[in-house]
Parts: sequence; C-alpha cells; structure tokens
Amino acid sequence: MTMDLTFLGTGSAYPSPHRGASALILRTEGECWLFDCGEGTQTQLMRSQLRASRITKVFISHLHGDHLFGLPGLLCTVSLQTNPSPAQTLPCVDIYGPTGLRKYLRVTLGLTGSQLLFPYAVHELETSPDQSPPEGQLSCEMTSECGPLHPQEQLGRSVSLDVSTDCYQLFQDKRFVVKAFRLFHRVPSFGFCVQEHERPGRLNTELLKELGLHPGPLYGRLKAGEPVTLENGRTLQAADVMEEAIPGRKICIFGDCSGVVGGGALKACDGADVLVHEATLADEQQEKAVDHGHSTPKMAAAVALACAARKLVLYHFSQRYKPCALRKEGDDDVAVLGRQAEDALQGSGVDVILAEDFLTLAIPLKR
Ligand SMILES: [Zn+2]
Ligand SMILES: [Zn+2]
Repeated sequence: MTMDLTFLGTGSAYPSPHRGASALILRTEGECWLFDCGEGTQTQLMRSQLRASRITKVFISHLHGDHLFGLPGLLCTVSLQTNPSPAQTLPCVDIYGPTGLRKYLRVTLGLTGSQLLFPYAVHELETSPDQSPPEGQLSCEMTSECGPLHPQEQLGRSVSLDVSTDCYQLFQDKRFVVKAFRLFHRVPSFGFCVQEHERPGRLNTELLKELGLHPGPLYGRLKAGEPVTLENGRTLQAADVMEEAIPGRKICIFGDCSGVVGGGALKACDGADVLVHEATLADEQQEKAVDHGHSTPKMAAAVALACAARKLVLYHFSQRYKPCALRKEGDDDVAVLGRQAEDALQGSGVDVILAEDFLTLAIPLKR
C-alpha cells in the first residue's frame, strides 16, 4: 500500500502568497486524511495533485484560526463536487478536534445557510487545564452546543483521555490505529499518531517447493496461519514457512506547541518513521517562541531524539521565512532552521527535512 504526506500549507499565523496556512494530507490508497485546515486550504488543494473529494477524515490540532478557518469553506466545496444522492448513502466525514469544534462548525455552517450533500460528525477531544495558560482555556458557555444539530450532522463522540496510555483512542480499522496526545500551547493543542498494523510476512515459496508443496489451497491455509499436514504425515506450522512480519509504518503529526503534556506524546510516537513538528522561529528566538507557545528547530529536534524518530519534518514557519526559491538578499533564510535541527541531531541518524508547500513525502513500506 502506498502512503505519502503532502504539505498544503507550511506557514504560521496566516496564509501568504508564498506560504499557505497549516494543512497537510496523508494519502493512502484512495483515501485522504486532512490534518489542520487553515484559511485557503481549498485553493492550495486545487493547485496540488490531490482531490478534495477524497477527504474522508479531518483532524484539527487546535482551534487557532491558522489551523481551522479553512474548514467550513472546504466542506462546502467538497459538497459542490459531490454527486447528488441521498445523504444517507454517502460515507460520513469524521472530524476530530478539541472541544468547541462541534459548535464552531454548527454555527458557521448554520449561520451561512450551508447545506452539505454528505453527512459529517465531529468527535471532540476533552482538553485538560494543563494544556495552556488559564487565558487559553475556553469556558463551558463558549463551547456548549446550543440549538439543534446541523441537518447533515451526525452525533459525534466525546473522547476522553485514556489515563493508562495518556492518549486518546480515536479509532481503529483494518489498516490503522489512530491516537491523539496532549500538547502545550496558548490554547489546548493535540498531536496525532497514525500507526499502521503489522503485516504478516510472505510465504517462503522456495522452501515450500522443496517440501513438495505447490501453490494451491494449502498456501492459503498457511497464509491464514493454519497448520498443514504433509503427505509424509509431518505437520507444518505456518510460522515455519513464513518470512518475518513487516512492521507497520508510524506517522506522527504535532500541532502547535512549546512542549508536550504528560507522557502520552513520547510513548505514542516512539520509533516514528516520520515526525512532523512545528518550528515557528529560529533557535535565537527561543524565548519569544516559547512565550507564544511555539517551538524552535532545536526544541523539535529534542522531541525527535526523545522518541527515536527516523525522520523529522519541520513546518509551520513564521511568514518572515520565504521559501528558498523566493528569498532575496537580506531576507531571513529558512534553510537556517533546517541546519539548526541538523546540528542538534548530529550523529543521531535522524534525517531532517524542511517542508515547503506542495512537498510530497513518500513513506515507503518497511522491509
Ligand atoms: Zn499555528
Ligand atoms: Zn496555534
């Protein structure tokens, strides 16, 4: 199964002509999952090779506008591109994010009279008071849902923290387990961990032929893990003729943060193949970055080291950093951010990648 990540917006605070606001897509065969949806995400999508109509799940890290203002508009445009058919027959778009997200969508879609051709559900993650300074916490009056559900809204879940893992179990299907974990920011923020299931190894067909077994139903039984009796009476266990299992890939995407909260993040992201982490400002501005609830390359590198990640991808750069191709003399240089992370990771074997808008990163199968 192919998997890749496409960055639609790598800028912080607002979308600019040279850097979109936060959004990225994890694509697997036929399905796209959107992580954050800053203003302008739908035009970025149109400029990319991806199709908005393929989005089946949306994950919002926190309620700041540069991660959320694009969502109502994007949902409306996806609806325009959807073939009219009874809404019940179309799959529900599942949207995950902090408490308050359900009200935000209900009010923006409701006040604008926006109807969708497909159903949607918002699954809210309960926030904790240690995820932000007190002024970043939303009151119950702010987040409480008033009025009826939007006509296309289905009842979503409220997901609470699983104290045994310090994570939120969002869902599990036949391919993936997806969790969220807590981060510290000016408002409560989350990161997401997408863990692919391990795949059984292949049958060692050479060995099977040596044993006198030829392709057929017995192969199917061995593949399913069942023992098989050979003509000479010997019982062959599936494990004897299977190659080693292929570990699943793990992709971790952090929302805005100046640090993690509790042990959930590092546990969930342990051994990540790809760790996507913000680096809003350079190391020299760490005090300012932390003041605003953000990270520097050195801080992101420390997280990558702590979870023994293989690849660190930096994004969410201050708009002062133009893409290398557009940079004029005297402008701040985004390449410096990459070098700072590399310096911090020297000798560790962790690769550093600076994301740019429309960068697509393949995530190959592990062998
Ligand atoms: Zn942001
Ligand atoms: Zn933010």
